[in-house]
Amino acid sequence: MNNKIKQARSCADDYDPNSLDCALAKQLILDQIEPIKGIERLAIRSTLGRILAEDIFSPIDVPSHTNSAMDGYAIRSQDLPIDSINDFILIGTSFAGRPWQGHVEKNECVRIMTGAVMPAGTDTVIMQEHIERDDKTIKIGIDHSARQNVRQAGEDLKTGQLVLTAGCAIDPSDLGLISSLGMGELPIKRQLRVAFFSTGDELRSIGETLGEGDIYDSNRYTLFGMLTRLGLDIIDMGVIKDTREAVREAFVQASKISDVVISSGGVSVGEADYVKETLEELGQVNFWKVAMKPGRPLTFGQIDNATFFGLPGNPVSVMVTFYQFVLPALRKMMGATHTKPLTLKARCTSKLGKRPGRTEFQRGIMETDDNGDLVVSIAGQQGSGILRSMSEANCFIVLEKKSSGIEPESIVNIQPFSGLI
Ligand code: AMP
Ligand code: MG
Repeated sequence: MNNKIKQARSCADDYDPNSLDCALAKQLILDQIEPIKGIERLAIRSTLGRILAEDIFSPIDVPSHTNSAMDGYAIRSQDLPIDSINDFILIGTSFAGRPWQGHVEKNECVRIMTGAVMPAGTDTVIMQEHIERDDKTIKIGIDHSARQNVRQAGEDLKTGQLVLTAGCAIDPSDLGLISSLGMGELPIKRQLRVAFFSTGDELRSIGETLGEGDIYDSNRYTLFGMLTRLGLDIIDMGVIKDTREAVREAFVQASKISDVVISSGGVSVGEADYVKETLEELGQVNFWKVAMKPGRPLTFGQIDNATFFGLPGNPVSVMVTFYQFVLPALRKMMGATHTKPLTLKARCTSKLGKRPGRTEFQRGIMETDDNGDLVVSIAGQQGSGILRSMSEANCFIVLEKKSSGIEPESIVNIQPFSGLI
């Protein structure tokens, strides 16, 4: 057994492998995960959703020149009229990308467009709507402030200033920000390779005919979806038969070619003991019963250099355990600093039944009501095999371990799916 797990066990009074607290299971996993080391330099368009490997500092001032925030007239602030309307002589025009070359003197002005460089001598822009123009002369009244409507060089970012912090996931605004600095590449954490497969003699793939007792494999598709959204390098290893040889071969193969191996099914206690045997023979693997619903059995550990997650077989249990345990672990391994799912408070319009002693992740539909408040209601049937309600839901309603259910109108914690992945 891994030392960190041993340590975590000795520090955690409530450690019980037969009913492990959900938060503790997550912590035990996170404590064992190390971020991957490799870094690659990628063209910025290829970095979307990926994890930044190093801090980025601005190589330039943004904006690089002091420029106008409005279409109007650039003047010297010391010429601003104090108690009357004054005439200014129009001596030129400064366009965005085509600066006016010259120096503005007393009571002169330059026509200026938004984004155009402020002419030498000027520091203030009067909006075009606030002047009267008469061919080569404009009239400016009172009530203007010195340096108004001007964007100062370096106002957004100064040269050398921290722009993006290592560990952030690159989003569209970051792409814009980085390109505004004239940078074409970013140092990005190497892509994590994840191999996954389903286990079960009853599983058929799309295109096959269902025999008696057979079902179509859906776990590989939900896993495909969740892993793809994370931007990982994924390897779908198909359906593995419930035989010692097939399972062994799959684990050996998967751990050779990937950083992370995820299986679903076949690891519930009492069932197909060779899975447990095989895993114990191949690596350091823990079999936990987590005090949660859905998703009780969970297997986690190391096979050679690969981190292994054995998820339960039931389709909703797979998604819940993925969201609660695998997702934060993958994000940490990817080098992301942010691993926590977003949790919000919402008013629950449904009565929810629950047994104390386990954390429950019920499927909910959250929306904003007519008053602008966040409300949530239960999404259909909650059985751990029922994907339909998972598909209708857009969040988990998280009911804490000691709760014995809630009455309508109670405030609950919810985890929006979109914030999780
Ligand atoms: P297991 O953990 O293998 O005992 O599976 C628990 C339940 O989940 C059984 O009803 C399985 O038929 C079902 N199941 C297991 N794997 C899958 C899968 N890949 N797709 C759909 N259902 C599955
Ligand atoms: Mg099975």
